[in-house]
Amino acid sequence: MKIYEKAPAKINLMLDVLHKRPDGFHEVEMVMTMVDLADRLEMVELPRDTIIISSQAGYIPLDEKNLAFQAARLIKDRYDVKKGVHIHLDKKIPVAAGLAGGSSDAAATLRGLNRLWGLHIPIKELQQLGAELGSDVPFCVTGGTALATGRGELLTPIENPPQCWVVLAKPPINVSTADVYTRLKSNQITKHPSASNMIAAIQSGNFHEVCGQLGNVLEDVTLKLHPEVQHLKETMMKLGADGTLMSGSGPTVFGLVSKESKVPRIYNGLRGFCREVYAVRLLT
Ligand code: ATP
Repeated sequence: MKIYEKAPAKINLMLDVLHKRPDGFHEVEMVMTMVDLADRLEMVELPRDTIIISSQAGYIPLDEKNLAFQAARLIKDRYDVKKGVHIHLDKKIPVAAGLAGGSSDAAATLRGLNRLWGLHIPIKELQQLGAELGSDVPFCVTGGTALATGRGELLTPIENPPQCWVVLAKPPINVSTADVYTRLKSNQITKHPSASNMIAAIQSGNFHEVCGQLGNVLEDVTLKLHPEVQHLKETMMKLGADGTLMSGSGPTVFGLVSKESKVPRIYNGLRGFCREVYAVRLLT
């Protein structure tokens, strides 16, 4: 038997870090939503007890370091599944980009194997399993739009923001999420974005209010380390985006755009100096 599962990318509309916890994780407040840029997972049941990962993308691990592998291993161990699976990852989400590509692949694997093996695991339980794999995985299990607190695993669903275009640009630099959090001095953050203001803006249905509430404290770190990310944001605004923000720890920057007629200019303008540019819709 063969099934397919879509693994969409997430963006942070706001990301605040409150403090570092004794367990080493940071206490965060994030509003996250999904965009229509997705990896596609093909899962084929194998009669023998094995997990095989393949991908056309040459630059991701295909062994136990792959988050889809870890998700499959977790389900097999926890529910004592003796069958195996071959998971092919058709990667479309840029890797190590701040778009939770690996987390979304892990979440899609949990959803897919639940179906493939007829396990009937409730969604809440899939999210708990996901939390063992990474802080963004529980959100990716359900998608939609949510406020995420704790280390990102405590979710309160909220309504979707007003539909718009999202232009994403990933500069060709590597940013380590762990390094960005280590460099962040949470007691020196001067401007905290507000989760409640962002939620109110979303609930008002006013696109420009949503743009006004965009904020990510990790920009303080990544923009200083990589001025080209700041430059990308400024260029997007000059080209006509209504609001811009870095997603997660970066380096991807996204611009929200209400008018479709503005999208080609922004897309083409960015393509001039950035190879990885995407123009997509919110996944609502
Ligand atoms: P986040 O936004 O959650 O911090 P990210 O978008 O910055 O994630 P990913 O694309 O998930 O980053 O990749 C982070 C690292 O995880 C990469 O260096 C990659 O080697 C590893 N990885 C493991 N499994 C996967 C996968 N299925 N897809 C992509 N990367 C993976």
